[in-house]
Amino acid sequence: MAFYPSYGNKFLALKSTLFPDGELVHGFGTRIRFDEPTDPPAPERECLQELAPAAAGVAWLRQIHSTAAWRVTLAGGDPVYRAGDNDAAVAHEPPEGDALLTAAPGIGLVVRTADCFPLILFDPHRRVAAVVHSGWRGTLARITSRVMDQLIRRFGVRPADIHAAVGPGIQGCCYEVDHRLADMYTSEFPDTIQPPAGPRSGPRLDLAACLRRTLLDAGVPARQQDFCPLCTACNPLLFHSWRRDGRQAGRMITLAFLPGG
Ligand SMILES: [Zn+2]
Repeated sequence: MAFYPSYGNKFLALKSTLFPDGELVHGFGTRIRFDEPTDPPAPERECLQELAPAAAGVAWLRQIHSTAAWRVTLAGGDPVYRAGDNDAAVAHEPPEGDALLTAAPGIGLVVRTADCFPLILFDPHRRVAAVVHSGWRGTLARITSRVMDQLIRRFGVRPADIHAAVGPGIQGCCYEVDHRLADMYTSEFPDTIQPPAGPRSGPRLDLAACLRRTLLDAGVPARQQDFCPLCTACNPLLFHSWRRDGRQAGRMITLAFLPGG
């Protein structure tokens, strides 16, 4: 498996060979566009339209670095979000959370990132998909394991059937962290902290290695995991990066949806 570029009319996206288009429409957006932006520019919305022209509805989140996951269905073309035991929580506007899952065709599931890692999970047998936003807080709390638990409980998914693509995020080359965070990670994910690059720098965290460990622990076979090797922070032409660009950093769209419906 590998990531490859997908050239649309306006935007460059990355895709994983894990997911044939006929089974799962998907894309990891980049910041590269081929046309003049509209006025005012709306790159996220436009990127979405290009990635998902056939989506019947689009589900978003107000991302908060949590482990909250919402299941999505469509009602009258609009997404309905449900969470909790017996679906106690219901929302009709994008709720606070960091993962979306669905078994319903036609719903574009979206997360937005700039250094945090976007994940797409897909079971081609049960036809269930999920997208996850996993930064340092979500990765430490193993949000991906929590999503896997929901896929198993709600949809009868077998972990060995899950295919997982981890999109572009900040890699160990650029992700300096303080010693407190390094210690927290060392106890949860041994061997994912790299030594400082120089006398005035801090330890570096390999979040992708933590996600690999999380997926393996959750039962996703290594041959069904695909990791984008590119670092958001040291590829400024390709990616937005919070660490590099600060508050003015844009966001990349990651989208997945089940065709049909
Ligand atoms: Zn880097």
